[in-house]
Amino acid sequence: MTIATQLNELKANIPDSVKLIAVSKYHSADTIMEAYNEGHRLFGESRVQELVEKKELLPDDIEWHFIGHLQRNKVRDIVPFVSMIHGVDSLRLLREINKRAKQINKTIPCLIQLHIADESSKFGFSFDECRELLASNEWSKFQHVKICGVMGMATFTDNEKQVKSEFKSLYRFFHEIKEQYFTNDRFFCEVSMGMSQDYTLAIEEGSTMIRIGTAVFGEREY
Ligand SMILES: *Cc1c(COP(=O)(O)O)cnc(C)c1O
Repeated sequence: MTIATQLNELKANIPDSVKLIAVSKYHSADTIMEAYNEGHRLFGESRVQELVEKKELLPDDIEWHFIGHLQRNKVRDIVPFVSMIHGVDSLRLLREINKRAKQINKTIPCLIQLHIADESSKFGFSFDECRELLASNEWSKFQHVKICGVMGMATFTDNEKQVKSEFKSLYRFFHEIKEQYFTNDRFFCEVSMGMSQDYTLAIEEGSTMIRIGTAVFGEREY
């Protein structure tokens, strides 16, 4: 199947309210253009160097979402153009994003990454660590980051019950902190969860943004 077909089938099968981030990591600029030419504008990348190189080759109206683990010393490379940073997993990272964004007078939409999988390899706060972070209040003084919601990755398993319950826990946590810290904040509205193998479950559990790589582009090219 072509990328156009896969993209359009996917879009036909998800509610309009759910944003589709086409995860183009390890795919060339030419491949990305195939999706772009179908009208797609939301793309996700997880490595800074790769993103910076490809961004140069591609149209300016693409909205780039950084979805991977972000090192603090790379923040300034993406802050000038990135639309959203999904994987904020420490206060120090948030502080650095704020600092770099301030220098160029921008405000960067960010999602807090929560560790919901039962795998040690995935990044993110535990729910309690995140509660602590929010209670500490330092984040609320940052003028150049906008916390827009949460992001998480479920365990890589065929056990649907487990995946569903992990997504459910993230959704519930989103509402918990929304009520406590973001009650009247209309920007705090995103739950970024769901990848190629589990996006249907994620949508059932309240996802507002799915991050899809292989189901759009096929196997990664490099
Ligand atoms: C690679 C990646 C995805 C997409 O994975 P697929 O299984 O190819 O859909 C989604 N989210 C993150 C954080 C990723 O690194």
